Parts: sequence; C-alpha cells; structure tokens
Amino acid sequence: MVQVTGEVDSKILERLQALEQKDGQLPSVVQYYREIVQIQARAKSRITVRKPSLDRDLVSDRLREGIPLLLFRDFRPDWEQVQAVFEQVAMWAAKDSGNLPGESEKLGKIGRNRSLLREAARAWYEGHSLGDIATAEGVDEVMLASAIAVTLKPFLSIYSSLLLPEVNQDSWRRRYCPVCGGKPDFAYLDKERGARWLLCSRCDAEWLFLRLVCPYCGTQNQDALAYFTDDEESYSYRLYICEQCHTYIKAVDLRRAEADVLLPLERVMTLDMDKQGQEKGYKPGLTSLVV
Ligand SMILES: [Zn+2]
Ligand SMILES: [Zn+2]
Repeated sequence: MVQVTGEVDSKILERLQALEQKDGQLPSVVQYYREIVQIQARAKSRITVRKPSLDRDLVSDRLREGIPLLLFRDFRPDWEQVQAVFEQVAMWAAKDSGNLPGESEKLGKIGRNRSLLREAARAWYEGHSLGDIATAEGVDEVMLASAIAVTLKPFLSIYSSLLLPEVNQDSWRRRYCPVCGGKPDFAYLDKERGARWLLCSRCDAEWLFLRLVCPYCGTQNQDALAYFTDDEESYSYRLYICEQCHTYIKAVDLRRAEADVLLPLERVMTLDMDKQGQEKGYKPGLTSLVV
C-alpha cells in the first residue's frame, strides 16, 4: 500500500496563500480552485491504494497497442473513501450560487449509493455519457461529471505517480494519457531540450508529445499549426492553436521559467490566455469542467 503526501498540493496552497497576502482577495475562480485543492489534499493524506500488479509483458503490450495502463478494472480504490470525498465535493458545490437549489442534495444522494456512484465513475472514466444517470437522478450532467472528476482526481493522481514510471516516454507520444486515457489540458516545454510534454486533465500524468502535431485532432499539417507567445514577469507562455479543429492548448516554457513551476496551478493562473484564445476564435481543446 502506498500513501502519497500530496506535496504538490501543499505547495500550491502555500503559493496561493502568499498570493493572497500580496494581492488581497483572490479572484473568485482562483478561490474556487483553492477550495477544490484543499478537499483533494485532505483526501490524499488519507488515501491508500495498491499498485495494480501488471507484469512487464502486459505493460509493454498495452503501451505498444496504445492501451492506457490503468483500465477501470485496475482502478480499485477504497470506495468508502471515494464516497467520503464525493460527499465533501457535493457540499462544496452547494456554495456555488450558479448551481440550482437542491442540486447538491441530489448529488449527495448519488454519493451515498455506492454502486450508482461506481457506475457513474465508470461511465465518466470510459468516456461514456452520464446522461441517463443524470436524468434519472435529476441532476445536471455537466455538474455530475465535474463532481466525479474532482472526486477521482486525488485517487487517479496517486495511481499516476505509481504507474507513470512504467511508461517508456519515447514510444508513447499519443494524444491521450498513458496512465488513465484522459485528454491533456495543459502543456510545457522541458528545460533540457524544449521538448513538448502534455499534462493529463484527469490524473496529472505528464507525457512526451510531438511539437508539430495538434494534441486534439492529430493534424500534422504545418500550415494549420501555430502558437502565440506571452511573456510574463518570470514565465514565458505559449498558446498553441490549430486551424484544423479550431482548438488551443496552453503551455509554459520551462526554459524561460525562473521560479519553481507548479503545473496544476498554471492551469488556473493562465486564464488570461484562455481569454486571448477565445477572443481569437478558438476553443479549449478540452473544455475544462473544473479548472
Ligand atoms: Zn491521466
Ligand atoms: Zn487540431
């Protein structure tokens, strides 16, 4: 059994606290994000998961065939712990005035039904619609998917830290995560070679990708691909855009970053770039349910 301390989470929380002391009240979206990280960090300190026993042949077969290492059947958290986190997420959702009254209670009801929660988690994980469950339970489908994503993140990120070392980065280079199969929602250029890595929206795994391919539609048409740069105080950012599928992905260039970069935090600290991308007529390659 492995326990992970959630070091990145505590660094993120420290950074946000420093920012709050410097700038005063955090923007509401950042505050919202901080509350999620607090729930996830608390969860992580309690989560125990067993590393799936995938032998070396199975690992190399799956990676060669493009099958992520963690299939839903390999995902075996303690569902009581999952339920406890889901319950907190449902309560937190009630604070958002944009949500319909009663929505949080209905979510809570789903969370108390372990087999239903597991079924919803499976559908979300395998990329199926949550529409039937949402309709039957009277909740908004996007909200249900967000609550599941936020709840499973600490569990998946622990699995990711266990399984990512098994991945041969030079041979994966696909448009989805080698650990959980999720899509990327952020990228970075590494310090050493300026190679482009993608960050998984679901489990925070990082994987090496090609610089001249769209991570969403896969086009290699160079006329369709471009990027804009944006230099901030101590960071340099890029907004990669694709004319083929009209999407963008944000990236931080670590060759130009002076401070310690906390990638998950960068997602939310770069909302100006989302604005720019959308003003230019592009949409995020992955519509982030929760930043
Ligand atoms: Zn992943
Ligand atoms: Zn594209």
